[in-house]
Amino acid sequence: KAKEKRRSRICFYDASLHETMKLENYLEGRMQYALETREFHMFLQPKINLKTNSLGGAEALVRWVEDNGVVICPDQFIPLFEKNGFCVQLDQYMVECACQKIREWIDKGIEPIGIAVNQSKSTFYESDHIDALCRLVEKYQIPPKLITLEILEGLAMENIKELNRKIEQLQKTGFQISMDDFGSGYSSLNTLAKLKINELKLDKGFLREASLEGNQRSKIIMKQIVQLADCLSISTVVEGVETKKEESFIRSLGCNYGQGYYYSRPVSSKEFDIRYMEDRRGY
Ligand code: C2E
Ligand code: MG
Ligand code: MG
Ligand code: MG
Repeated sequence: KAKEKRRSRICFYDASLHETMKLENYLEGRMQYALETREFHMFLQPKINLKTNSLGGAEALVRWVEDNGVVICPDQFIPLFEKNGFCVQLDQYMVECACQKIREWIDKGIEPIGIAVNQSKSTFYESDHIDALCRLVEKYQIPPKLITLEILEGLAMENIKELNRKIEQLQKTGFQISMDDFGSGYSSLNTLAKLKINELKLDKGFLREASLEGNQRSKIIMKQIVQLADCLSISTVVEGVETKKEESFIRSLGCNYGQGYYYSRPVSSKEFDIRYMEDRRGY
């Protein structure tokens, strides 16, 4: 019962309680300890295959659960960790959690699904990055095909040649590459032309716009992006699906996957197993 109570604690620090600087100092002072004592948890959110109407994969989203039961969401610490370099360790830790989970499914005779892990810019450009990933799939003896790396389109702004080399190297090893939050920032057709990604995630802002009554232009643009991706053999995910109406809309676009609160919020990996993985036993 005490646990129930602890679980319902707030999901963010109130900016009026701690000024940003104080909060940053506090988080920075605790991050290494938090990593070592496993305060970072991998939550999972299902990705629904719209063609088969079944579970098509999951996205790993980090939650910082402090020992006092307070849960801190990534928007409150990822930008800080990107600045101070800690993201590299955290992202690698999350890949390890994903590999571990897939290994656990396989060991239990549960048909595994792929897990997508977010990779910050500093992680992606870390010199040891590819080797570190290879060591992890090797350690847990899982097919790299089941790990998708989500990168942000902002990465493509810098050195697109260098980025493409990285992507191709990772794909040669078997990893899947997804472009996250497409349409939220500097998206350009050049990105699509030059980068040989496997998957495109249309930013939830797109769907919000298109869901507004009478916003025909946004609807047309989404449809064309999905078709364009399709022609380039890039699979598409629409994020932020919250309503039945939005789900019907993304189906009408012909996109491959949907992700959002309409299907499920991100849940703890234990909860995820109970809801989605138990009936995949004995495949
Ligand atoms: P993202 O990768 O674009 O992840 C999707 C975000 O949208 C998640 O927020 C998810 O909880 C939220 N979301 C899912 N469905 C819906 C919906 O229907 N409506 C709305 N309004 N939101 C929805 P979250 O978990 O707070 O993560 C925020 C961002 O933090 C992520 O955006 C990602 O960029 C970053 N992040 C999360 N985990 C990691 C990580 O392990 N490493 C790195 N580098 N970044 C991470
Ligand atoms: Mg993501
Ligand atoms: Mg996203
Ligand atoms: Mg995002």
